[in-house]
Amino acid sequence: MSAGDDLFEALFQAAVEAVIVIDGVGRMKAFNPAAEKLFGYRASQVLGENVSLLMPEPMSSEHDGYLSAYRETGDAKIIGIGREVLCRKSSGALFPADLAVGEGRTGKDRFFVGVLRDLSERKRLQESLAAREAELRLILENSPVATAVLDGEGRILDVNPTWTQQIGPSTEGLSTLEDALAANERSKLAKAVGAATRGVAYSARHRIVGGESTSRIGTLLLAKLPEHEDDRVRLLCQFVDETEQINTERQLRQDREVLAEVSRLSVLGEMAAGIAHEVNQPLGAISNYAEAVRIKLGEGGDEKLRELLSKISSQAQRAGQVIQRLRSVAGSHQLEQASTFELRTLIHDVIELAALDARFVNVAVVTDFPGNEIFAIADIVAMQQVLLNLLRNAVEATAQAGGERVTVRASKSDGRARIAVCDEGTGIAEEHFEQIMQPFFTTKASGMGVGLALSQNLVEANRGRLWFENNEDCGATFYVELPLTSEGVEHDV
Ligand code: ADP
Repeated sequence: MSAGDDLFEALFQAAVEAVIVIDGVGRMKAFNPAAEKLFGYRASQVLGENVSLLMPEPMSSEHDGYLSAYRETGDAKIIGIGREVLCRKSSGALFPADLAVGEGRTGKDRFFVGVLRDLSERKRLQESLAAREAELRLILENSPVATAVLDGEGRILDVNPTWTQQIGPSTEGLSTLEDALAANERSKLAKAVGAATRGVAYSARHRIVGGESTSRIGTLLLAKLPEHEDDRVRLLCQFVDETEQINTERQLRQDREVLAEVSRLSVLGEMAAGIAHEVNQPLGAISNYAEAVRIKLGEGGDEKLRELLSKISSQAQRAGQVIQRLRSVAGSHQLEQASTFELRTLIHDVIELAALDARFVNVAVVTDFPGNEIFAIADIVAMQQVLLNLLRNAVEATAQAGGERVTVRASKSDGRARIAVCDEGTGIAEEHFEQIMQPFFTTKASGMGVGLALSQNLVEANRGRLWFENNEDCGATFYVELPLTSEGVEHDV
């Protein structure tokens, strides 16, 4: 076959695609330069040869059959349709090509024009993209970090197995990220999703309530993914689970606190043991001497003197008990001899003990009681000791600042018995807030600095709480809170 005119010939020669013309039985009639380049044959080598030369098996052997079937049935398998085919170069190398076939006639002879475009490069690109995608998916699938893809509204589109395992399957009620979060964190997240869709990356600690009842804490990261061809916003969402780490840290902190407490108590315990040893003997002696003098005075002696001697003896014994208790509580941190008592009884007893000191420095100790009785449960001797210590500190501070009175209040607050010792002293300097409860901290020339530390231990050993605050006008108030008796008994007085 020859080109009909010059224009056709020029087109045929200059075409970028390979153009091959065959006759009705498959013989090659035209083979343009692009075809020569693509297949590595010169036109002169292939013209007149069967086009099956350019195909690998099995197509090569079957091609003649296709043509005769078409001639007989007119049933086109490829003509006018085009498809992807595998071709063979002169070197034997195979390559994919896109083949479009058209049919023509000259007189009664039919011919077919095939136009081929080399797909090797595109195929290579597709394959490397697919390989890369598979690799990325593999990384994602095996990543130990829970990862999800969200749309612009925070709906979960895709998740990796770690996400399913830690947070729950996206199909079972967890269709949005919000569903996976603790209720109080949702509004914060909605804002973060909004910001992420505008390209502002987000990273913050969140509590994830998983598909089941699991609850995990970790860092949630949100970042906008590069936009797809479809122009829809997608967010990458990752959750770095830090639950174990946080729990371990919390446990460590608690262990450290317990250790600090134990060492604080053991220092106090040792000191208490020392004091007990040194002081118990003279206290016993005081008690014994007082008793001996009382006996010596006999029945006929001065009544007042005998009473005073008996007071000396009982106070010395009480002091002995206090020291024993201090030793056992500081040493073992155990609740001893809890009993039920009414707050005003305790307060009155202690004020009586402190009254002399207070009068001496011109400070009045007044009480403020509610209209009903409040029964607390605790070791009463230990609580006398605590209150006496608070009262002495309050009187001392009030006297030093030229104040006039110390008020001791009893009340019931939040289901607990509360005693407040309110003074008119200088208050607690802010820089001493942390220290005053520490053992051996004192601002007094002759102070020991163990009163508050010990009081706090005693109160806590009795399931109570001791704390302080500065008053608005002047001075400070120290509070002791104790459990009420289980019956919560209350009587009007
Ligand atoms: P000490 O009385 O031997 O110093 P404490 O443990 O009882 O030991 O008190 C520790 C410190 O707390 C005191 O030195 C004082 O600085 C401060 N403090 C305690 N109570 C009061 C109070 N009511 N007003 C002001 N400061 C106080």
